[in-house]
Amino acid sequence: MADVIALPAFDDNYIWLLKQDGVSTCAVVDPGDEDPVIDYLEAHDLALSDILITHKHGDHTGGVRELKRRWPDAVVHGPAHEPISVVEEKLGEGDEVVLQALQLNLQVLDVPGHTEGHIAYFGNGLLFCGDTLFAGGCGRVFSGTFEQLSDSLRRIAGLPPETLVYCAHEYTLANLGFAKWVEPENPELLQRMHDDQQRRNSGLPTAPSTLKLELATNPFLRTGEPAVIAAAEKWAGSTLSGHRDVFRALRQWKDRDYD
Ligand code: ZN
Ligand code: FE
Repeated sequence: MADVIALPAFDDNYIWLLKQDGVSTCAVVDPGDEDPVIDYLEAHDLALSDILITHKHGDHTGGVRELKRRWPDAVVHGPAHEPISVVEEKLGEGDEVVLQALQLNLQVLDVPGHTEGHIAYFGNGLLFCGDTLFAGGCGRVFSGTFEQLSDSLRRIAGLPPETLVYCAHEYTLANLGFAKWVEPENPELLQRMHDDQQRRNSGLPTAPSTLKLELATNPFLRTGEPAVIAAAEKWAGSTLSGHRDVFRALRQWKDRDYD
């Protein structure tokens, strides 16, 4: 079973590094900056075999060129439907990435919405979802659509609840603050705020979370819950029908009034 290590980058990004004891190569997900990766690989005497990219934004791709220069054998995997010049292995729904040395097979899921061609990697109970689903929240709609992001989150919600969710940013406490606007009386949310605050006080990442916890506390995965629908309708001032409408209202509410 591969170990997953968080390499903090910039102010609040995580580059996820996959390795296994006794194996001399490793893989990274979304290296926006090369420095944390180089430092870790040099300190642990590892070589890079694979680079996985979820979407085109620079904070997820900016380190690829330099990593590739240092480890020319590393294969760069990424979304087929986004313009990313450094991607060599273009992936979409149904494709699989085989990390042989790590004995890890990852399925590719199309999860557009944050960007038009965003993908996620899922396997062995691990989900690397970039800026689609965050702990306690979700990505903004940039070059995709609200409908796409709503559908992508519904898709993720259907994965096994024990799935570990490795998102790409430490936005959790702020996200949970908004979640509390939506569901001020959700006891699991209040407990999570306490637990994640303690993690941050100890300098620990709040990711990975579990999908089970997200389903219980993340309003963007709870667009079918009566309390969430009622809160979204109150903000929108109109009746909302269906996950997509509720999702759009929540996302716009957070964008306009919270962030
Ligand atoms: Zn992004
Ligand atoms: Fe990002």
